[in-house]
Amino acid sequence: MKPSLIVHGGAWDIPDEAVEACTSGCRRALESGWSALTRGGSPLDAVEAAIIVLEDEPVFDAGFGSHLNLDGRVECDAIVMNGATLRSGAVAALQRIRNPIRLARAVLEHCPHMMLVAGGAERFAKENGIALCDPEDLVSDAEREAWRHCSQDKHAAAHHRGHEQGTVGAVAIDAQGKLFAATSTGGTCCKLPGRVGDSPLIGCGCYADSAAGGVSCTGYGEAIMKIVMAKTAVDLLRAVPAPQHDCPLPEEPSRLVAASAPGDADRSPCGENFHAMMAAREAVHLLAHRTHATGGLILLDREGHPGFAFNTPRMAYGYVAPDGSFATAV
Ligand code: ASP
Repeated sequence: MKPSLIVHGGAWDIPDEAVEACTSGCRRALESGWSALTRGGSPLDAVEAAIIVLEDEPVFDAGFGSHLNLDGRVECDAIVMNGATLRSGAVAALQRIRNPIRLARAVLEHCPHMMLVAGGAERFAKENGIALCDPEDLVSDAEREAWRHCSQDKHAAAHHRGHEQGTVGAVAIDAQGKLFAATSTGGTCCKLPGRVGDSPLIGCGCYADSAAGGVSCTGYGEAIMKIVMAKTAVDLLRAVPAPQHDCPLPEEPSRLVAASAPGDADRSPCGENFHAMMAAREAVHLLAHRTHATGGLILLDREGHPGFAFNTPRMAYGYVAPDGSFATAV
C-alpha cells in the first residue's frame, strides 16, 4: 500500500484575495507532512507537521490568527486520533498554546484521559514541556481589526461573513495502514467565551478507524455535532465494499454538494476513488439535509484513497496524488 496524506484549510466563502494564501498554505502543509511521512516518520508525525504549518499561517482559523471570541481573545481547540487504537487526544478552550495540535498529541501519548480543557490543559502542557505563550501572541492584526469592526456594530452576522477563515485538518496513512486524523481550530468569530464546537469532539470534527478510514471536518460546529459528521462519514466508508479499482467519478452526484473546485483535483488520476468520494458527499449531503447548515470534510479510506466534499462556495484542500505530486484547490 502507498502512504497517503490529505489536508484542508476550511470550508467557507473564501474571498478571492485569500485564495493564493490558502492554496500555498495547503501546499506547504502537504510538503511538511509528506516529508515527515516519507522520511520514516509515522502518520502521527505527518498530521502534526502538516497542521503546525496551517496553525502558523494566519489565513486559517487555527493557532496564530484564529478568530477572536466575544471578549476579544483567541480560544483554540484541537484533536488527533489514532485509527488503530481508537484513542484520541483532544484539547479545548486554550488561550496560551501556540500550536494546539502539539498539546493534543501530548494528551494522546501521555495522558490517561482523552480530553483536557482550559487551565487544566495548559497545566498539562507545562508539565509535558510545551511552552505557554502570551495570549496576545495568538492575535493577528487582521483579526483584531475585524473584531473591533464587529463589536462596534453589536456583532452583526454580516461582519463575520466578511472575514471568514477556516479550521484546518489532516489525515495520513502509511504503507502498513497506520492511520491518524487531526483537526485544529479557533472556532467561530465572536463566539461566547468557553464555547467549544465540533472540532475537538471525537466523532464530530474528527474520527479515525483503521478498519474504515479517517476524517477531518470543517463548517458550522453546532450543526456538525448534530449529525456526528466525522463518525458518520467513517461509517459510510465502512458500509461500502472495499475499493478494488479507481473508477471515474459520477458527473453530478448531488446538487447540494460541490464535487470540487476547478483545478487538477477533480480528476481520478489524482487518486480519488468513487467510494471515498461518495462517502464524503453523502455525509455533507446529510449535513445539508438534516441541519440546513454548511460545511465540508476530507477523508482517506482504509486503503489511502482521498475523498472530499463541501456545500460551501469554497473549501481549501490538498492531497498527495499517487504519482507523488501535490494536488491543491480552493
Ligand atoms: N467547525 C469549526 C467550529 O465550529 C469552525 C470551522 O470549521 O471553521 O468551531
